[in-house]
Amino acid sequence: MIPRVVFSDFDGTLTSHTDLTVKFFEILNLLSDHKIPLVIVTGRSISWGHFLLTHFPQLKHVICEGGGVLVKRKQDGVIAKELYVDEKEVTRLQNFTKSLLKKFKGLELSADSLGRLTDRAIELSDLMIDVDRMKDIKTFMDKENVNYSQSNVHLNFWCGEISKYKSVSEFMKKYYKEYSLEQTIFFGDSMNDESMFKDLPHTVGVSNIKEVLKKLNYEPSVVLTGEENAGPQGVYNHLESLLK
Ligand SMILES: [Mg+2]
Repeated sequence: MIPRVVFSDFDGTLTSHTDLTVKFFEILNLLSDHKIPLVIVTGRSISWGHFLLTHFPQLKHVICEGGGVLVKRKQDGVIAKELYVDEKEVTRLQNFTKSLLKKFKGLELSADSLGRLTDRAIELSDLMIDVDRMKDIKTFMDKENVNYSQSNVHLNFWCGEISKYKSVSEFMKKYYKEYSLEQTIFFGDSMNDESMFKDLPHTVGVSNIKEVLKKLNYEPSVVLTGEENAGPQGVYNHLESLLK
């Protein structure tokens, strides 16, 4: 299958561990040579989306904050945003965050929360030491109907229904309605890619996904193996085999 749109996670999938390598540029060039759009779908903040669109002209859309918001380059070149949650959920999150910080004295948001619109994060490093505090915070979030998930560094929280899959299906209906989700492919490597693995027909896990494979309820349809298929190397190899 030749995909009409390629979706990909960013960290660990388009980067080698944390490094942005030449392979990322090779993927951008391979896809633009074939006139296939690449849409990055990442947990990173809206400010990251702005950064990616500014510096990589091959990209036209980036979905950020785990699916909460789309950043797009308009016809006139201006970078604009589009929410995938209701405006009132964004306001509810702002208000909730204020009361959370008031209730739990000394609690700090992650440094990158400043650039976030549809979610926030708390550094786990402090909370891990204090199990009871963590429990109290989660109980408070449950009570206030706020969603959360834990990564290896953060406790992320948000209001309203947000997922990578939900935003991607809305995105396709608006921007590529001539194609179905069947004609797309997604590359990922971790827990926050699970909604894509669950509902998108064609998904690929780069080989470094093996570290979290056991924790996933839904696996990608293809799991790459071998060190030569880790991160962007795996994305590149797989795309090259499809486009041959
Ligand atoms: Mg990742």
